[in-house]
Amino acid sequence: MFKKVLIANRGEIALRIHRACKELGLATVAVHSTADENAMHVRLADESVCVGPPSPKDSYLNIPAIISAAEITGADAIHPGYGFLSENARFVDIVEAHNIAFIGPKADHIRVMGDKIAAKEAVGKAGIPLVPGSDGEIHTYEEARLAADRIGYPVLVKAAAGGGGRGMKLARTPNDLAEAISTAKAESKAAFGDDAVYLEKYLELPRHIELQIIADSHGNVVQLGERDCSLQRRHQKVLEEALSPALTDKEREKIGETVRKAIEKLGYLGAGTIEFLYENGEFYFIEMNTRLQVEHPITEQVTRIDIVREQISVAAGNPLSFSQKDVVFRGHAIECRINAENPRTFVPSPGEIKFFHAPGGPGVRFDSAVYTGYKIPPYYDSMIGKLIVFGDDREYCIARLRRALTEMAFVGIETTLPLFIDLVDDPEFQKGDYHIHWLEEWLKKQDAS
Ligand code: ADP
Repeated sequence: MFKKVLIANRGEIALRIHRACKELGLATVAVHSTADENAMHVRLADESVCVGPPSPKDSYLNIPAIISAAEITGADAIHPGYGFLSENARFVDIVEAHNIAFIGPKADHIRVMGDKIAAKEAVGKAGIPLVPGSDGEIHTYEEARLAADRIGYPVLVKAAAGGGGRGMKLARTPNDLAEAISTAKAESKAAFGDDAVYLEKYLELPRHIELQIIADSHGNVVQLGERDCSLQRRHQKVLEEALSPALTDKEREKIGETVRKAIEKLGYLGAGTIEFLYENGEFYFIEMNTRLQVEHPITEQVTRIDIVREQISVAAGNPLSFSQKDVVFRGHAIECRINAENPRTFVPSPGEIKFFHAPGGPGVRFDSAVYTGYKIPPYYDSMIGKLIVFGDDREYCIARLRRALTEMAFVGIETTLPLFIDLVDDPEFQKGDYHIHWLEEWLKKQDAS
């Protein structure tokens, strides 16, 4: 096992990783920007190193500074969390070249899954169902037109390097195709420095359903069931549930086994998520995330497995502490992402938290790094906490969620808390009857009322 882990992240996820390290008896090193000197992840870690000024590119993305911090403190492993350097294959190469272990997959898997065209090809070969689409990259308009005719309209033009919903354009009819391609290419070139695009059938009202997997270096792969992340705003997840209210046990078992076998074939190591769109009983792969996800706790609640603990352990070369037959789903879990934002306009609301009260009681977990008197810096993501609620079934879970939401209080900043207070009482939400566009439609109705 490792002795000392450097956590190359901030906020709630840095704390989450710190907690797993402590429970494993490992020392922790926090890195931070000058804006985060008083952050909770710095206070709790055994040691901390300032790696640069506030701007992420100069601090949390500053590879030489992070490697130096690991060397100075004698850390033997780096956990990247999510975002920042977590899916940067070059960073993994550099970490390993310095004889430090990277707590995550091999650089090659990050590389393949970071290119959506290569990812589709790899997982398709391993037996995972894909969205019907072009045969790889589209080079000419003529090629695109033929592929779109074959797939059938509407089609989505997607950037191979895309992320965060950027570089994605819809063509409802053949007349929209040329423009969709040129805008998607321009957007992708500007955001990612790469203009490769491909086509996919556009699914009208799918759900977003993703499967959590974890693999060790001894050939064991386990799938931990699915999360339903259909409630999104601008392609950003807002509330997630495990398990999905839309799947039958039979469907769950079938897709789980398909994914487990595919991951085994790919020889993947560590934690990962296979994201699907799900429509009319069919699964369509969209991407694989080669890291820990924000919403991993809901899977932990329904499986009672500590994903971060296992992630660290398998990176150190240990076998998984459980096998597929030990994975038994129990109850229901929901996560609400609490952002420091205006709940209607979603404009960020940084500043001092004058008073904060965390919810508690049975079945309630609040993963956060804020405290009364904490000043939220304006430089980073606005998510300040995740309320995770567990109940024996979905109805019980929703009742607890409603109760927990009313206990939470923030003074001094605006948060998205009021949005969830309204959402839990919506009859369609309560029935679990929603798709990936549902929340945006619901928000429009709220605005109108
Ligand atoms: P990104 O990496 O930019 O997040 P994804 O491929 O994961 O891109 O897709 C993000 C979101 O875009 C999905 O959650 C879904 O809402 C929508 N989307 C992606 N592909 C399709 C598709 N073929 N049909 C309909 N919606 C899609």
